[in-house]
Amino acid sequence: MTIKSAEFICSNTQISKLPPPVKAEYAFIGRSNVGKSSLINMLTGKRGMAKTSQTPGKTQLINHFLINDEWYIVDLPGYGYARVSKNKKADWDKFIRTYLDKRESLQCVMVLIDSRLEPQKIDLEFCNWLGEKGLSFVLIFTKADKQSSVKTDQNVAKFKKALMATFEEAPQYFVTSSETQHGRDEVLNFIDSVNNH
Ligand code: GDP
Repeated sequence: MTIKSAEFICSNTQISKLPPPVKAEYAFIGRSNVGKSSLINMLTGKRGMAKTSQTPGKTQLINHFLINDEWYIVDLPGYGYARVSKNKKADWDKFIRTYLDKRESLQCVMVLIDSRLEPQKIDLEFCNWLGEKGLSFVLIFTKADKQSSVKTDQNVAKFKKALMATFEEAPQYFVTSSETQHGRDEVLNFIDSVNNH
């Protein structure tokens, strides 16, 4: 897929104020600092599109970016910040889980996983929750340029194995780097294939 246009549409703190659910949405989510903003910028080809390295615990926003006037990249707030208070965590949970669970135009959840790390409990729990809700998701392993492809493959295999404790089939996955643009075509082609399904 060629990106002809990518436009920031809105930031929301309330589900009720989201754009009408008439265009396909792909929600990008992961632990804070996983490389989500960098990935969105890499996919859209616009450097400042999503704001990188946002301060943890700031207002939780759902950002909509309209791509090719056709579909949305939805940038969801990251999870898993140790320094965030219990109340903030509960707010995050309610806000995001409501969006994910209820959004009719949501096509797929793109779960970002840091390819440098061994499987993390919080990521596995989140995937399991998506599975329980019957939501479609794929895994996007980030920052693959930071270590050898052998190490990345090992971490991918470990994550898949950990998921197999609850899933019958391993989800589709992509290995990416925002530095080298590795995986860009694969992710965009996947979205294209779902859009044209
Ligand atoms: P977010 O909090 O998930 O939006 O993460 P950011 O996109 O702000 O990235 C967090 C940090 O990781 C920043 O310092 C980025 O420059 C760095 N980073 C993100 N993606 C990559 C990548 O693919 N390769 C490398 N080497 N660094 C990355």
